[in-house]
Amino acid sequence: MINKTRLIDEFIELVSVPCPSKDEKQEAELIMAKLRELGLEPEMDKAHEKTGGTCGNVWAYVKGTVPNAPKLLFEAHMDSVAPTTGTKVVRKDGVLYSDGTTTLGGDDKVGVAAMLEAVRALKEDGVAHGDVQLCFTVSEEIGCLGVVNMDQSWIKADYGYCMDIGGAPGEITYAAPKLYDIYVTVKGKAAHAGIAPEEGVNAIMLAADALSKLPAYGRLDSETTFNIGMFNAGVGTNIVCPEAKFVIDMRSLNVPRLEALKDSTIALIKEAVEAGGGQVEFEVVEGCPAVELNKDHECIKLAARAAETLGFPVELKTTGGCSDGNYLCGYGLPCGLLATGMSNVHTTAEYLKEEDLYNTARWTYEIIKEAAK
Ligand SMILES: [Zn+2]
Repeated sequence: MINKTRLIDEFIELVSVPCPSKDEKQEAELIMAKLRELGLEPEMDKAHEKTGGTCGNVWAYVKGTVPNAPKLLFEAHMDSVAPTTGTKVVRKDGVLYSDGTTTLGGDDKVGVAAMLEAVRALKEDGVAHGDVQLCFTVSEEIGCLGVVNMDQSWIKADYGYCMDIGGAPGEITYAAPKLYDIYVTVKGKAAHAGIAPEEGVNAIMLAADALSKLPAYGRLDSETTFNIGMFNAGVGTNIVCPEAKFVIDMRSLNVPRLEALKDSTIALIKEAVEAGGGQVEFEVVEGCPAVELNKDHECIKLAARAAETLGFPVELKTTGGCSDGNYLCGYGLPCGLLATGMSNVHTTAEYLKEEDLYNTARWTYEIIKEAAK
C-alpha cells in the first residue's frame, strides 16, 4: 500500500535539494541512493556530455514477476524552474507550498516521488507485476534537453507514462502537438530616410505587408495554433529599415495539417516580400514531435482502467503544450501524459494538494498492478 506519510516526507526531501536545470547532480544522487535502497541498480546515461549539465538522466529497471505483462516506462524530470534552490516547504490545510521565495518544485517531484513510492509499495506488498522502467530526466524546463539527448536504445518498454502535467489524477492526455518555430528574416535596402528614401526598401513595411496577408492568427482550429511571438527591426529613426526579423510558433495535433500550414505560410510570406522588392530567408526549427495516440490505445485504456478501479473520475484530454512525453512518442514509445495535481507551476505560488500527491502514487501503483492482470 502507498504510505501517505512516508510519501509526503520523501516529496519534501526531494524538493529541498537544489535541482536547477543543467545542475541536477545532487538530486540525481539522492534519487539513485533511494533506488539502491529499493534493491535496484540505477544507471546514469551520458546526456550531460551533450547538454553541458552536471549529470545525465537516471534510469532503473524493476524486473517483473509476470513475464507476459506489457513493459511499462514511467518518466518524470528532475529539474525545477528558478527560483528553486533553498526550497522550504510549508504545509497548510492539506496543501504543500513553498515559503514564497522559490517555486515548490512539485513540477516535477510529484512524479519522482510517486514513482519511488509506487515501486517501494509493490516490493513491500509482493504484488505480481510486469517489467517496469523508471526514467528521471534532466533539463526538461529548458527545452527537454535530457530526453532530446538521451540514447533511445535505453528505452525498454511497450508503453510510457509521462508524469508531468496539471489536473487531477484520473485525467489522461492522449494527444499533444507537433511544433515548428519559423525564424523569418526580411531584407530590404537601407537609405537615408530624409535625403533619399526612394533609394531604400523598408523591411518593416515588407514584413508588415506579409504578416497582414496571412489568413489567421491565434487558434486556427480545435487542433492548431499560430503565433507571432517576436518581432525585431530597425537601426535608427532616420534610416529606411534594411532588415526585420520575426518568429512564428505554429503547432498542431494534426501533423499533415501542420506540414501544409508551414508550407503555405512560407509561400505567402515569400510572395508578399518579393512583390515589394525585398528578399526573405527562413530557418525552420522542428520542435517536439506530436503525441498521437487515440483514446482506444491500450496505453490510455490501461491508465483509465486503473483510475476507475481507484474511483478517480476519468477524463481523456488533449493539450497544446509540449513535454518530455512528446519526445518519447517521437522515439516510438506510445506515451500518455498523466495528471499529477501540480498547480500554479513556474511561479512562487506553486502548490500541490497532499491528496493529489497521494493519488498520483496510488494511480502509478495501480497501473503497474493492472498491467499484470
Ligand atoms: Zn514539468
